[in-house]
Amino acid sequence: MRATLLTIALIFSLANVYAQGEEAKLKISHLTGDFYIYTTYNTYEGSRIPANGMYVITSSGVVLFDTPWDTTQFQPLLDSIKWRHHKSVIMCIATHWHSDRTEGLAFYQQQGISTYTTILTDELSKKNHKKRAEYLMAKDTIFNVGPYSFEVYYPGPGHTEDNIVVWFDKEKFYMVVV
Ligand SMILES: [Zn+2]
Repeated sequence: MRATLLTIALIFSLANVYAQGEEAKLKISHLTGDFYIYTTYNTYEGSRIPANGMYVITSSGVVLFDTPWDTTQFQPLLDSIKWRHHKSVIMCIATHWHSDRTEGLAFYQQQGISTYTTILTDELSKKNHKKRAEYLMAKDTIFNVGPYSFEVYYPGPGHTEDNIVVWFDKEKFYMVVV
């Protein structure tokens, strides 16, 4: 039912390379309103592959969805957000266990950012030696941050066994990683 309302999908393909410079390590693109997409890169089987995450600016601070997978870009992403929006990242939610979602979790926790995954993601992260979050969600969870309210829920297995979806009810859109 809700899946039919999908308006945003973060698709991991070369089609998502933005035209901000071929070799830029970090790219930020305005999505709509307070929503932004950030892109970082890693090398997989000899190819430079982008991975996208999202953040939303609120009056209470910035909510980051997923983390860069280029380990050199954890701090530059925080710095870029601070510079552009004059706000700090206060929380980070990783949407499945793969490195392009979770790699920065430990770093961000050290910076005082509240990091979250589901218990299932944490189990898979542990098993696969990935970074883990400080706070674990045992069930679908609604977060209220500044004027924004969003629900993090588990739709069943998709891209991975543990992938979660973020639903912004007022804005009527999903963040889905495919
Ligand atoms: Zn993945």
